[in-house]
Amino acid sequence: MTAEGHLLFSVASLIMAHKLQITPEFAQGDWLHMVPGVLLGALLPDIDHPSSILGRLFRIISLPISKLCGHRGFTHSLIAWLILLISSYQWLPHYWDLPPDLIQAFLLGYMSHLIADMLTPSGVPFLWPLPLRFCFPVLRGKSSKRGERFIAVLLTVCAVLIPAGHPADWFQQIESALNYFNNQINIHLPTKTSLL
Ligand SMILES: [Zn+2]
Repeated sequence: MTAEGHLLFSVASLIMAHKLQITPEFAQGDWLHMVPGVLLGALLPDIDHPSSILGRLFRIISLPISKLCGHRGFTHSLIAWLILLISSYQWLPHYWDLPPDLIQAFLLGYMSHLIADMLTPSGVPFLWPLPLRFCFPVLRGKSSKRGERFIAVLLTVCAVLIPAGHPADWFQQIESALNYFNNQINIHLPTKTSLL
């Protein structure tokens, strides 16, 4: 997928995350933080290719990664994303004080890149170092660039059409589901007092 496709896809994903309010940061975040964050995240996985935008800017990082892991290797995996997630919340110096909405948008942009590359026939080694490639090759051939734009526009239109005021509060729903199952288990498992 082209850099333009990744940037469009990441912005569409950001609008979707904002409309679905998947976290409070996406719901109320500052676009001046979120847009640069998502764009950077969308470009970063291709640092493993010296001719990519970030690869050309940071050849000193790009060349060794490219030699060691090849294009669409480690940087296109879930483990790379998890390392960035943990680094963002645990290992960054506190005095950097990066806004949480920027961090979340960056992680979203990175994940959107991996998903977008799955739409091409080469796919991505999502579970690297396992040699499995994940792909749903809807983008192929000469018309793939038009296809990239079409998917990004479609995602944006869907995001815009989601009615406001009906947030899909995923975290709250997961918490409610967990509480429900927890209550069910408590009801069906006899307690010490009920056995007396
Ligand atoms: Zn890529």
